[in-house]
Amino acid sequence: MIGTIIIVGGGTAGWMAAASLAKFLEGSATRIHVIESSTIGTVGVGEATIPTILDFNRFLELDEAELMRRTQATFKLGILFEDWAVKGSRFFHPFANYGAPLRGVPFHDLWLRSRAVGDGSPMEDYCLPSVMARSGRFAHPSPDNPNPLADFGYAYQFDAALYAEYLRDYAMRRGVERTDARVLGVNTRASDGFIESVTLDSGQAVSGDLFVDCSGFRGLLIGQCLETPLEDWSHWLPANRAVAVQSESTADPVPYTRSITRPAGWQWNIPLQHRVGNGYVYCSEYLDDEQALDTLLANIQGEPQSEPNLLSFQTGMREVFWQRNCVALGLAAGFMEPLESTSIALIQTGIALLETFFPAHGFRQCDIDEANRQSRASYEKMRDFLILHYKLNQRLGEPFWDDCRSMDVPETLAHKLAVYRSRAYLVEYGTEPFRTGSWLSMYAGFDVVPETYDRRADSISESELQQSLAQMRTIIRNAVSLAPEHTASLQKYGPVD
Ligand SMILES: Cc1cc2nc3c(=O)[nH]c(=O)nc-3n(C[C@H](O)[C@H](O)[C@H](O)COP(=O)(O)OP(=O)(O)OC[C@H]3O[C@@H](n4cnc5c(N)ncnc54)[C@H](O)[C@@H]3O)c2cc1C
Repeated sequence: MIGTIIIVGGGTAGWMAAASLAKFLEGSATRIHVIESSTIGTVGVGEATIPTILDFNRFLELDEAELMRRTQATFKLGILFEDWAVKGSRFFHPFANYGAPLRGVPFHDLWLRSRAVGDGSPMEDYCLPSVMARSGRFAHPSPDNPNPLADFGYAYQFDAALYAEYLRDYAMRRGVERTDARVLGVNTRASDGFIESVTLDSGQAVSGDLFVDCSGFRGLLIGQCLETPLEDWSHWLPANRAVAVQSESTADPVPYTRSITRPAGWQWNIPLQHRVGNGYVYCSEYLDDEQALDTLLANIQGEPQSEPNLLSFQTGMREVFWQRNCVALGLAAGFMEPLESTSIALIQTGIALLETFFPAHGFRQCDIDEANRQSRASYEKMRDFLILHYKLNQRLGEPFWDDCRSMDVPETLAHKLAVYRSRAYLVEYGTEPFRTGSWLSMYAGFDVVPETYDRRADSISESELQQSLAQMRTIIRNAVSLAPEHTASLQKYGPVD
């Protein structure tokens, strides 16, 4: 029986865990206690999400309108990648698939065939959210519409500090206790190494049955106390620094995040209702901090509204996120740079695994092993998708980008890439966090041309193929023309500055 859960850390991870566990354990006698230190503070970034956030918010029964208002959120239909392929190139990664299959033939094989006979229409024209994003519009997907062209996901761009605050209110209304104190020590039981208590700067020892480490990069419990090693992935994802600055908005917010390559990394641009989040993610072996800041400041539109926030990190994951009676979430569990906004989604995965394998009747190693296996699978699949971006880059003649292009990639990714190049087949290893549409957006965006495609596409006559493709484009264009401007969609939720 878990009498008390101690959550160390009150950043996004800590308050997501507190809110979700409060809901999950509603009506039970389990106490939940968050210990956070206002003198240490949070990492202060993390503004873009992916559609899994909707599942999390739905479980908590959050009202979207309230969430949008309280977190100054905008809608996110995907990411616009600029200058990742050849200079001047742009492509969009939507949370959706492309087109519709025809007589059982996957859409991308139809598109490749059509392309082989001279049709130049970009793959993006067959994706509703891509076209909607391009035109600066936003409408919610309609789940009742059976047309596969209308099926897409969306997410939010929000102020992460406000989101944590919102969840803190939610959790505390449901009885979660909070202490503002610094944890100075972690005390384990001699017999089995389980954590018994944490010692605060007041000298008080706070004991619990289950400990959730949300202490950020330091990993106070999982790393410093339980000595769970961090598996280093920086040879695949070499960026190890970021400098972030908020700036004033100079235009209406677009319904997507922008990712623009720079000489030793890439810059993000995340428009919120009240400001824009900007940051340059780079590798310190190729660029010093001063140059990075200069580059960032030279490439933001509005006046800076915050002091530059310089962050150092190492890409990788803890060998296990659950060790004895300690579960690590957020930065304490691992970190991959924010290229595809995966961190909050990974926090959610960790929380879901904790709840699925909740140790209500004691800690069983088989449950812990299974949770760790599933967590690792999520991390590794996301890692491979991120590496793909670097591996396929076309910024020729720049040391950072040349080195990324020539690096060896994990076998799992090498296999996917090889099979796509061979016959346009999209390998999936079980449930993937980024589905086929995501992978296709990269292959098409980076102009990876497979040697061949599914031969069944050739059984469809050219005229039928062209007619079907034209029809899909028309349906999408018409649907987009009916969608309101993104700003108009936001105004439904309250005034936009
Ligand atoms: C450059 C960058 C960009 C990012 N962008 C995105 C993004 O766009 N999308 C996304 O999903 N994620 C993003 N992330 C990741 C995201 O910011 C984090 O996953 C998220 O904020 C969770 O952080 P956290 O709660 O684990 O840690 P933190 O925010 O660091 O919080 C740690 C908490 O632990 C407390 N603490 C630490 N030590 C002690 C102690 N001794 N005693 C008491 N309390 C203590 C602190 O007070 C704080 O409350 C980004 C990360 C970086 C570095």
